[in-house]
Amino acid sequence: MKHKLEIQEAENEAKSVIERLNITSLPICPFRIARERGIIVEPKDSDRPGVSGFFIKVGNVFGIQYATHIKNEGFIRFTIAHELGHYFLPEHPEYLFQGRDGIHESRSGFISDEFYEKQADYFAKELLMPQDFFLAALRESGVGFPAITSLASKCKTSITATAIRFAQFAEDPVAVIMSNSNRINWCFMSSALASVKGLRWPRKDSLLPPNTATASFNRDQNNVLSAKYIEAWTRLDYWFEDCSQIEMKEDVVGLGHYGKTLTVLFTNETIDTEDDDEYLEIGDEKRGWKWH
Ligand SMILES: [Zn+2]
Repeated sequence: MKHKLEIQEAENEAKSVIERLNITSLPICPFRIARERGIIVEPKDSDRPGVSGFFIKVGNVFGIQYATHIKNEGFIRFTIAHELGHYFLPEHPEYLFQGRDGIHESRSGFISDEFYEKQADYFAKELLMPQDFFLAALRESGVGFPAITSLASKCKTSITATAIRFAQFAEDPVAVIMSNSNRINWCFMSSALASVKGLRWPRKDSLLPPNTATASFNRDQNNVLSAKYIEAWTRLDYWFEDCSQIEMKEDVVGLGHYGKTLTVLFTNETIDTEDDDEYLEIGDEKRGWKWH
């Protein structure tokens, strides 16, 4: 999705739903929102690859089903929030059903390039982790990986989705990096880090820097599977070429059967930044990375 306006529309609609339903605290419960709108929610066995949920219309009645192969509670809630996006966002029901009864198959979690899927994902992100509530919780959540687990339990969202939102709003220089084996899958940075002089975004599937705790951690897959957590030190220039030699904390955690590792780099030091704000133009979709 290239257009900021459509992203903004999705986020504004999520905010408006929260206001209309008078929700004043975390966690936002998508089951409750569905129930209050008379939408039936139920699990469904599905072997369709990549399909996370279904949005169903029968006459004037709407239903949501989520795929039972999803074992992550946070992602189940995200999937339901995505289907609610199809319900609440202008033109979605009309586009998906063309005035007839039907079943829409969703691929939620920022894996689809399809316009309506992406807009529903942006709606879901804002619905479950609304900016104002999330910022207030973030200020009380501390630093590093423990802050992310605290926020995930407050929002009832997955660790990875929460980590990305954390990077988006953290005021200090922060990067969250997903990796497996010796490769970086994706990286999100706070504005304070993304605007550091000379910093370049790591390319998708680039090699993990070998002299880091994350690289050592990933050499033993048992660390990942047993959800081991370590705290280490690193340097910014190990991770991002041409950067200053700034010391950063490096929290590393294995994500169990998901088979991947989450790394959080952070410091509370101020780092020199560039004047231009080009980094602000880089949205999730341009990076093309999966989100859950
Ligand atoms: Zn969908």
